Amino acid sequence: ERAMRLDKVIEENLKTTRKEMKRLFLMKKVKVDGLVEMDQHRNVDSRLHRIEVNGKVLQAKHVYYLLNKPAGVVTAKKDPKFRTVTELISPKERPAELYPVGRLDRDTTGLLLLTDNGQLGYELLRPDSKVNKTYRATINALVTIDDVAAFAEGIEFHGGIRCRPAKLIILTANSSYSEVLLTIKEGKFHQVKKMFLARGKKVIKLTRLTMGPLRLPTDLKSGDYRPLTETELNQLK
Ligand code: URA
Repeated sequence: ERAMRLDKVIEENLKTTRKEMKRLFLMKKVKVDGLVEMDQHRNVDSRLHRIEVNGKVLQAKHVYYLLNKPAGVVTAKKDPKFRTVTELISPKERPAELYPVGRLDRDTTGLLLLTDNGQLGYELLRPDSKVNKTYRATINALVTIDDVAAFAEGIEFHGGIRCRPAKLIILTANSSYSEVLLTIKEGKFHQVKKMFLARGKKVIKLTRLTMGPLRLPTDLKSGDYRPLTETELNQLK
């Protein structure tokens, strides 16, 4: 839920009575983003505002980072061997809990969202959320219109698991090298690689360009990140 009345948020969290609520505001005990707030009917955004009552943080302000993941870095919090995506966020800007929303393989590059808002992450990843993800892939073989048709039909993995229809666009096609764009609506483990393997072809390079309304900014260098803009955040849900 995006916007909610401030007194509602407080009531839900603290089970405050009406009378107590009035008093909290009158006594200037409510702060939004560090400033005293007197208007109890004001809308607050659970993802954007830090709310304090009586000096206690009721709701932390969340962070949302869009990262251009480099190759060689794992989508995890800690790893004994490899650098992790959370370690790419500077310690000063990194909350204790920071989750990648979904995962990219170690060798996959591109758009990855990181947030400390577990609820949002959960909603975006729900199997029925149908968030589109577009990848640019380099394939070690000739990609054909038969592949396009098979992807549109729904690729079946060994073992019978069936993927939802996916949109494959051929950018360049040669006998030993093709470039494609692939849009899928789900996120099975190694999904893109397995889809091509099911067609007897191998992904040799994979970059995620989009996730839902988010686009990998062309000026975001590999390994760099930036906070989501308010527009991006509002488009997310
Ligand atoms: N599909 C894959 O096979 N790997 C990724 O990292 C993402 C999607």
